[in-house]
Amino acid sequence: MKAQEQALGYLRTLGLQGIVQGLDELVNDAESRRSSYLAFLNAIFSFEIDFRVKRRVERNMTGAHFPVVKRLEDFDFGRVKGIGRSEAVNLLDCRWIDTKQNLLFFGPPGIGKTHLGIAFGRTAVEKGYKVCFERVTNLIKLLKTAEVQKTSEYRIRRIMKSELVIIDEIGYTPIEKREANLFFNMISELYEKVSVIVTSNKSFETWAEMMGDSVMTTALLDRLLHHARVFTLDGESYRIKKSRKEV
Ligand code: ADP
Ligand code: MG
Repeated sequence: MKAQEQALGYLRTLGLQGIVQGLDELVNDAESRRSSYLAFLNAIFSFEIDFRVKRRVERNMTGAHFPVVKRLEDFDFGRVKGIGRSEAVNLLDCRWIDTKQNLLFFGPPGIGKTHLGIAFGRTAVEKGYKVCFERVTNLIKLLKTAEVQKTSEYRIRRIMKSELVIIDEIGYTPIEKREANLFFNMISELYEKVSVIVTSNKSFETWAEMMGDSVMTTALLDRLLHHARVFTLDGESYRIKKSRKEV
């Protein structure tokens, strides 16, 4: 018992929290297998590494700020035109994030744009990428307040250090010129460094109207569309269909 307490003390001092939690099991397992000293050492260190990876994924999942849980397995591809199941499943390997590509989802409300954005974002977090999800209205609020508000500054810093940024719901509310400017600067900074997922209910031909500056909107779209996969979704709104069924 004394030896175990001593071991736990050392492990805590060294910050090996995973082994602290798994020690009983690891020791019992080694005893029953009659492991060699080296095999035991390898077992406890690999346990610690797995524990840290898992903890980092959990932290990144919380830090991504996904509004709800959505998965690709629950997406019904039979009801929507513009994206195929195998095409979507191929994207789960996240290679497009390694090559700094963007995914743009266009289409009417309720078609599953946000669902897909979250599903790809969660998969990326599970694979170890750092991801941030923001509705564009909140993103702009953050950009506007970053200089005076610590929480906004912190969030913007996390966004800029992510490997994937998901910007949801572009097009529902008009963006003022100053706001569009801040947004444009941010996209310019992310360009070719960070992958972006954008969802919008408005086709990009009408973005200039929404942002009130056609030159800047062209420059913005230029950056988003260079190295991008564009999905123009169509079909019946899932929300309407569901509520109709429930009635
Ligand atoms: P959008 O962002 O295009 O307005 P959402 O992604 O928010 O639409 O979808 C609205 C609701 O319908 C969500 O609860 C979503 O999970 C669900 N949904 C939409 N399309 C599908 C689909 N093809 N299969 C399963 N659920 C869907
Ligand atoms: Mg949406």
